[in-house]
Amino acid sequence: MSATVIDGKACAAGLSTEVAARAAACSARGAAPGLAVVLVGDDPASQVYVRSKEKRAAEIGVTTRDHRLPATTTTAELLRLVANLNADPAIDGILVQLPLPRQVDSAAVLRAIAPAKDVDGFHPDNLGLLVLGTPRFVACTPQGCMRLLDRAGAQLAGKRALVIGRSTIVGKPMAQLLVHADATVTVAHSRTADLAAEVARADVVVAAIGRPEHVRGAWIKEGAVVIDVGMNRLEGGRLVGDVEYAAAAERASAITPVPGGVGPMTIACLLSNVVDAAERRAGLR
Ligand code: NAP
Repeated sequence: MSATVIDGKACAAGLSTEVAARAAACSARGAAPGLAVVLVGDDPASQVYVRSKEKRAAEIGVTTRDHRLPATTTTAELLRLVANLNADPAIDGILVQLPLPRQVDSAAVLRAIAPAKDVDGFHPDNLGLLVLGTPRFVACTPQGCMRLLDRAGAQLAGKRALVIGRSTIVGKPMAQLLVHADATVTVAHSRTADLAAEVARADVVVAAIGRPEHVRGAWIKEGAVVIDVGMNRLEGGRLVGDVEYAAAAERASAITPVPGGVGPMTIACLLSNVVDAAERRAGLR
């Protein structure tokens, strides 16, 4: 079997077109979607992420307001900024770019964001609502993975899904989304005894590990759908996923490439969340 490539760029472009139309409807009602972006320090990767989020936001009709703070910023200073943004009626979403510098209590900062403006979906209230099956904001990367599974026409009900990784931003919310889609879900992590055997049983594999090509192609069940969240930069500069792509594509029925799979979906889903919030403000939902 040679897998269908799940085109994340095309899927993100389709979602962006839809989100742009919804943003325009909010603006027409005097509720132009607004996103506050908080970047602390000068981590080059974070600067690249923030720049591309702001560029895509502008294309879609979401206004961004930049808050760039020095690496020496304290938890108290960040909490003050978040409180001001929580109270600002023109701001629908607050994005605090991670990682924060070591001296900052990241959990305290994320918890201070008003749940109704937590467009990243990391606040305990939003994670709790997801577990209950009544989500408000779903974390952007797992949300993007679900949209890609849908685009691939993957059947989830009654299927065995394996999520590799249990982070709060990817693995855990991903597992919840698959449970609510009626899959039978296993979550693997660094202490899983036999990852190859878990992969071999799975009809759907979502890999979010952060180790280049850790999931070998030969482990993949014939006909499985593979979503590769991993983004690993090799020494030569090449970007690879967590799955051994070429060998996995020989066995899978559908697979996401890296780059061009999950990555483009994450920003599109973030902006979709911001517009969801603006629609609530505009009385459109
Ligand atoms: P993370 O917080 O470091 O979590 C990694 C997870 O992988 C942990 O749960 C860890 O297990 C598990 N793990 C580590 N080694 C393993 C092994 N040998 N076998 C099985 N599981 C293992 O990472 P993350 O933030 O979830 O991100 C994961 C990857 O996705 C990274 O490559 C990241 O760059 C990428 N990512 C991409 C996007 C995107 O938009 N495309 C967004 C977010 C993240 P333990 O819990 O036991 O330590």
